[in-house]
Amino acid sequence: MDQENCEDQNVINCDNSGRPLPNQEGNLDENVDISSPVETVAEKETPQNNKRQAEVAAGSDLPPKIAKMDESNEEEDPNAENCLAFDCVDPSDMECSLCMRLFYEPVTTPCGHTFCLRCLERCLDHNPECPLCKEDLLECLAMKKLCKTVLMEELIAKYLPEELAERKKLYEEEMAEFSNLNKNVPIFVCTMAYPTVPCPLHIFEPCYRLMVRRCMETGTRQFGMCIRDPVKGFADYGCILEIRNVEVFTDGRSVVDSIGKRRFKVLRHSKCDGYNTADIEYIEDKKVHGDASEYLTILHSAVYDQARTWFNTLKSSLRVRIIHHFGPMPAKEPDPQVNPDGPAWCWWILAVLPLENKAQLPFLAMTSLKARLYGIRSILTFLFLTQTK
Ligand SMILES: [Zn+2]
Ligand SMILES: [Zn+2]
Repeated sequence: MDQENCEDQNVINCDNSGRPLPNQEGNLDENVDISSPVETVAEKETPQNNKRQAEVAAGSDLPPKIAKMDESNEEEDPNAENCLAFDCVDPSDMECSLCMRLFYEPVTTPCGHTFCLRCLERCLDHNPECPLCKEDLLECLAMKKLCKTVLMEELIAKYLPEELAERKKLYEEEMAEFSNLNKNVPIFVCTMAYPTVPCPLHIFEPCYRLMVRRCMETGTRQFGMCIRDPVKGFADYGCILEIRNVEVFTDGRSVVDSIGKRRFKVLRHSKCDGYNTADIEYIEDKKVHGDASEYLTILHSAVYDQARTWFNTLKSSLRVRIIHHFGPMPAKEPDPQVNPDGPAWCWWILAVLPLENKAQLPFLAMTSLKARLYGIRSILTFLFLTQTK
């Protein structure tokens, strides 16, 4: 494995076969579920919110521009008199200085600046400071003290309902686009991943922080994993990884626990907000029947036994490390064709074998279980021969 490849640093503790090994540190922060970032912010009243309230009540940051009469609420609202100041609300007064759009899920920093939650998060991926006044927000980040600005949200809902509906629609359209698992699928360019095999990742680059956050926000919890390709940027075949858990460090880095799901072929390489994306189609093994199926069952059984024998010849300390990371070797399946990706043990052994990424990639692209079993048998035979020399 090319240890100099900086993106490989995303994989936790690679072993000499290039496969990620578990994090030995164990010094992570408490679990943080970033699937619902709004829930991680304090919703109770805070000094910041109070400060904001005072400012708004004084009308200091709501200079009258184009008067917008709220006729629908005027008569019914018993507090109408108190709201006179807001009859002159201009949508541009409620604009986020980062996206130049109406605040969406506004949050206020301890320095008193308000942004859309997602806009601020993207800035904090790069620098833990307020994008406007540069105040250090590291401590506030560590304590997860981004305060949802409830008052601002209520003001927008009450006085700019049409603009808010439009903004919400835009947000939902964006989320729907990010949820598509065929078009513009986010691609992590890092290591080999296989169906059913766990793949822990260390996320520290801003573009991948954003990518993982989006996977959680949309609820897909999935992204593609591909190895690097010197010409195209990333390989033409990859595996979808499903996020099982995300542990976030206080400084925003995180450890993502993922597992391989389905294999795919890349139809189109593209980019989005700094990370790679692809239009993909999923690939499956082609089923065989009759005599070919009977032969496949015999071949499958023989190669399985060979793989188990090879694994048992490894040093016990190495075996323990492998089992700790990848789990025990999956059992032999009675019908090797029952799963569209073939038997799980084949992927497990490919992840464990000391193979370079370039040698592993063709296995991902194969849609013939027979070819995959032949390939594994050749590697195991070669390893036996070199071991006994
Ligand atoms: Zn914004
Ligand atoms: Zn600030």
